[in-house]
Amino acid sequence: MQAFTYVGLPARVTFGLGALEQLGREIELLGARRALVLSTPEQQAQADEVAHRLGARCAGAFPQAVMHVPLETARAARAEAARLGADCAVAIGGGSTTGLGKAIALESALPILAIPTTYAGSEMTPIYGITEGGLKRTGRDPRVLPKAVIYDPALTVGLPVALSVASGMNALAHAVEGLYAQDANPIMSMLAEEGIRAFAGGLPRVRRNPGDLAARADCLYGAWLCGAVLGAVGMALHHKLCHTLGGTWNLPHAATHTVVLPHAVAYNAAAAPAAMARAARALGAANAAHGLYDLGRALGAPAGLKDLGMPAADLDRAAELATTAPYWNPRPIERSAIRKLLDDAYFGRRPA
Ligand code: NAD
Repeated sequence: MQAFTYVGLPARVTFGLGALEQLGREIELLGARRALVLSTPEQQAQADEVAHRLGARCAGAFPQAVMHVPLETARAARAEAARLGADCAVAIGGGSTTGLGKAIALESALPILAIPTTYAGSEMTPIYGITEGGLKRTGRDPRVLPKAVIYDPALTVGLPVALSVASGMNALAHAVEGLYAQDANPIMSMLAEEGIRAFAGGLPRVRRNPGDLAARADCLYGAWLCGAVLGAVGMALHHKLCHTLGGTWNLPHAATHTVVLPHAVAYNAAAAPAAMARAARALGAANAAHGLYDLGRALGAPAGLKDLGMPAADLDRAAELATTAPYWNPRPIERSAIRKLLDDAYFGRRPA
């Protein structure tokens, strides 16, 4: 066994069908009396239900969370929290809503109670992101890690299938890269393998029947585990490629993950055989890259970057950007091999 350092992040998790009923208990344990409920405008009905359950402990609501936490939205939410004298933020929604809670906590250390309704996993990480002038600034701060999380699969049945698949594959990418991270450790690798297994089993069933609560529970369990991995260990080539493609060509974040992941895994396969064996085992496949590619096809996800609006003429430039200031990666970053990887990803070929 390799030597390692393990740091456990504090997390109080309440998981299960109907877990939202524990909201009163969780708020009481936090000692909060004036909670500010956060949501997107689309999830205001769920936020209203949360506010109703909080009763006298609800100070108000801010249903204005949007993608990528624009600085103006963060400022408005911070001002509302201060105006109401809030002593806690209850974030019901996906990564965008949790991210807004984190933007408030970053300045005020307000405790966050997160109620995730997608598979993004932000509720398990001390990572925040705020967008200013089109540029997303990310960082780590222990103050933004939610103090309590309620996972209730019933709240995810309305998540459209395409969004479920995209956010699930995105989460799965965190676990796969976590298995071969530079700072990987056996505890996080156990969570990563189990997280991959949960999604590989759950997502196809969610696609067949979005109302399948057992499948929804498997995916939400996977979201928790994969989020914990993202919060604890570093990411590698796959994430560098996705940030490059998303940042420069504005490709859709989650769909880009689905397309790129099998190719990044194929690139790293020979350099991280033990991680690949675990990923393959969790996917129920003989080969991790093939397992991920086939899962994407079974879920009806786009296969190639060409389907996401990537211009073919820009692949050289993408290879150049992706190999400049690379993240640590188990296999050294070779420009010509990365160009070939991008070509395979562009056409959506099954990895060799
Ligand atoms: P999202 O939060 O942007 O939600 C997408 C849409 O789906 C929103 O309109 C939302 O209201 C809606 N929605 C969410 N749950 C629903 C449900 N159950 N039923 C119906 N509609 C629902 O999407 P996301 O994928 O959860 O989050 C993406 C964001 O999170 C990105 O900005 C990403 O960078 C960030 N993120 C951050 C971390 C972190 O650790 N900081 C981790 C993962 C993702």
